[in-house]
Amino acid sequence: MKLQEYQAKDILREYGVPVPSGKVCRTAAEARQAAEEMGGVVVIKAQVLVGGRGKAGGVKVAKSPEEAEKLAGQILGMDIKGLTVEEVLVEPGLDIQTEIYVGIVTDRGARKNAIIVSAAGGVDIEQVAEETPEKITKVWIDPELGLRDFQARQAGFGAGLPAPALKALPKVLKGLYDAYIANDANLVEINPLVVTGDGRVVAADAKMVIDDNALFRHPQFQAEEDTEIEDPFEAEAKKLGINYVRLGGDVGTIGNGAGLAMANLDEVKHAGGQPANFLDIGGGAKAEAVENSLRLILSDPNVKGVMINIFGGITRADEVAKGVVQAQKNLDIKVPLVVRLTGTNEAEGQAILSQATGIIPASGMAEAAKKIVEAVKGSNEH
Ligand code: GDP
Ligand code: MN
Repeated sequence: MKLQEYQAKDILREYGVPVPSGKVCRTAAEARQAAEEMGGVVVIKAQVLVGGRGKAGGVKVAKSPEEAEKLAGQILGMDIKGLTVEEVLVEPGLDIQTEIYVGIVTDRGARKNAIIVSAAGGVDIEQVAEETPEKITKVWIDPELGLRDFQARQAGFGAGLPAPALKALPKVLKGLYDAYIANDANLVEINPLVVTGDGRVVAADAKMVIDDNALFRHPQFQAEEDTEIEDPFEAEAKKLGINYVRLGGDVGTIGNGAGLAMANLDEVKHAGGQPANFLDIGGGAKAEAVENSLRLILSDPNVKGVMINIFGGITRADEVAKGVVQAQKNLDIKVPLVVRLTGTNEAEGQAILSQATGIIPASGMAEAAKKIVEAVKGSNEH
């Protein structure tokens, strides 16, 4: 998960990295107010989760509060690489003399984190790596020992940094590394780290990517992430704890286990249908999870039929059957429902289903797919 520049800067500030004190604004008037409070030159920066904002016109310097208001008005609402700017960060302007690149990334090949430093900052680092790799210095950090001061100096000298940057580098890198570890990041980057006319060293930009697999340890980022899910069905599935991906077709599918759930999609396609979704109810699912899954799938107006394909292992067939019957009772299901149920407690499950009406049984997976696709095609012809 990528963080916005201002979020990354807030974190880096906590860890002792020198960062300008800025203000996030949502309107041009707020930007003017912020510029008045800061006094002097300010920089207005679009807060969107893509690089190259400067080149795209999303970073502008304003010499007065009036100009800040005007420029913020231009940047807010701007489209940068498909993202609409809804917030700008207003910061005191920096008198930039030198731009340096510093970053830490997970190097999976080396099984270590790597510090990357370059005197060629401010520009696209991928391009520097490609065209002039000699301008980049990499130092690997032993995860047991952590970052040592000599490594910071080694990286700084290797990159040929100017004196003020060399002096500031150990503290900057230590803050960067501690922030990276504490937040389970797989990338943290300052591009550019600037040396100002009066010899200060300040992070003008910041980027941070948190390892998605560690987000459960960082609930403070979770709320932000939820707003990133745009599909309302997927957002609802996440709340219910169901593994669901919306695919846009008209044949709903339910399976247990990601492999079987994916095989469902293949079978539906093979039978000539278009899957509406991927859905894995998971191992050991209870009746309620089955009912919730059906409710979720049926709330998609495209869905013309649902195929349930369960291979009971840890998941018990009778529990799934109970869920299906329960769903039939509680939801007003108007579309065909094909159920293929096998494995643990299969006989009990079939007995429960045979009491219910309106369920089309199938004994194999290909048969289930064929039956649901036929039923959906039939309903489309009416
Ligand atoms: P990016 O283009 O998305 O990487 O955004 P940056 O924050 O790196 O801004 C792009 C460029 O704008 C930087 O390389 C700087 O040259 C310039 N810039 C960024 N912040 C400031 C600032 O505070 N003052 C001034 N004068 N220029 C800045
Ligand atoms: Mn940048």
